[in-house]
Amino acid sequence: MRVARPVKPLPQPHCEYCGAPAVLVRVGGLSYPYREDRGTLWLCEPCQAWIGIYSRSTRNVPLGRLANAELREWKAKLHAALEPMAVIKARRDGISIFEARAKGYRWLASALQIDEKACTIHHLDADQCRAAVGVIEQFERSRLDRAPSE
Ligand SMILES: [Zn+2]
Repeated sequence: MRVARPVKPLPQPHCEYCGAPAVLVRVGGLSYPYREDRGTLWLCEPCQAWIGIYSRSTRNVPLGRLANAELREWKAKLHAALEPMAVIKARRDGISIFEARAKGYRWLASALQIDEKACTIHHLDADQCRAAVGVIEQFERSRLDRAPSE
């Protein structure tokens, strides 16, 4: 392993909606959007769009794209749709919930025909989240159709 590494420039994410550079905000700051501490965020105040950083990141690397109210809503819907499947899969296959979620997103990436790296809850846009929720709903319906009636 090399010890001396060039210093990487700090990230400067831009707002997905207006293109302005996002600013780093912490709990207690005037423009911080939550009452409680949800960690450091990259924020575009005019668009009320934000994204968190990797929890162990010392360089404030954003988790993904800034999300406005609409995208946050879709992210919540996608999480709510996928999480029960991940919980079942983790239990059934004896894997961690993180692994089960990762497999879920790989499955969604192939269903949506997008790059696996771009298929995380923090990278999908609103249209992709909507499509992903549709894929999950269709899967759930087809599973119910196949289930034997009692
Ligand atoms: Zn903006």
